[in-house]
Amino acid sequence: MIYLDHNATTRLKPEALEAMSAARVKGRNPMSLHRPGRRARVQLDEAREALRRLCNAPKADVIFTSGGTESDHIALRGLAHARRRAHGATKVILTEVEHPAIKCAAETLAEDGFEVITLDAPSGRIDPKDFESIVDSDVAVVAVMLAHNTTGIVQPVTEICNLANSHGVPVHVDAVQAAGKTTIEFYQLGATSLAVSAHKFGGPRGVGALIIQKCVDLVPIWSGGGQEEGKRSGSHANALIAGMAAAADATIFDQDAMAAKRDVFEAGLIAETGAQILGAEHPRLPNTCAAIIGGIDGRAFVKAMDEKYIAVSAGAACHAASGGMGPAGQIRFSLGQQNTEKELSEALKITVEVVSNLRKER
Ligand code: PLP
Repeated sequence: MIYLDHNATTRLKPEALEAMSAARVKGRNPMSLHRPGRRARVQLDEAREALRRLCNAPKADVIFTSGGTESDHIALRGLAHARRRAHGATKVILTEVEHPAIKCAAETLAEDGFEVITLDAPSGRIDPKDFESIVDSDVAVVAVMLAHNTTGIVQPVTEICNLANSHGVPVHVDAVQAAGKTTIEFYQLGATSLAVSAHKFGGPRGVGALIIQKCVDLVPIWSGGGQEEGKRSGSHANALIAGMAAAADATIFDQDAMAAKRDVFEAGLIAETGAQILGAEHPRLPNTCAAIIGGIDGRAFVKAMDEKYIAVSAGAACHAASGGMGPAGQIRFSLGQQNTEKELSEALKITVEVVSNLRKER
């Protein structure tokens, strides 16, 4: 099987598996005061360091969560409520291209009485000028993703953070797709908080983290045992956290090599099928190629490719299963470090065959 769906999930890195086995054998509750508990706590602190390294955030707090969705909810809802409590701010701004995790968190905030404003991104990338015209000190929180799951388009996050911060408004950045595929500079971005998810960078599914500036007020979205300084109650998943940390440390950022492989594939796709590449005019993740191929239905294409042992996606995997996808005909190829040039040229050859067969069937 040639796997070209790394934006849906990635293969567990051997380093992560090893760290998880070790943590599972040794793991105890890090909240316990005894030696096994203290040992587990040291491991947790080491894992926090690995996440800080991944995001270049040496002084930030790290809150462990169950993944990107939870990190997004904790941040967006927690920051909004904290700022409303402190300053009476009532508005929430997000972009139209956000992941459902953010959109649903914003819906919850609307139910809680916030006014939710959605910023258009007609070409897939928001314009900071549009944002500048709507941001003011009555905004409780802003959500902007670093890179889009389907198109890979990188948003102008630094500009957005600078504008928001000038009004004292916190910004939550969903970096779930960016982490592991591109370098994240937490402080240069100017983000208040940033969500990552282990399974997108070679760690296990079901664990993630929220990187958050120190001393930022966050109202917890649920309460319980008071773990993570009360910001995320619930016993720690030690083994999963250890796997995430090992995957973070094993991440290789060979972005130029990745982009070069993707560009060769993409040039072939355009030449052979007339594909239109989404977001090509914008900065993009180096591994992502989202295309519209004329006359091709995305789901039919994915099925036909699957029969030829090539895994691709029609839009985002998490929406595909529930039937909701991007525009008809949208196809996503997302590369991983282990994809060879040979695999990509094989995948291109089969893509061309499949497109030609599907066009004949019309
Ligand atoms: N945010 C983005 C941009 C994503 O692509 C995803 C998952 O695909 C999520 C959030 C949710 O992450 P998780 O699957 O870890 O809950």
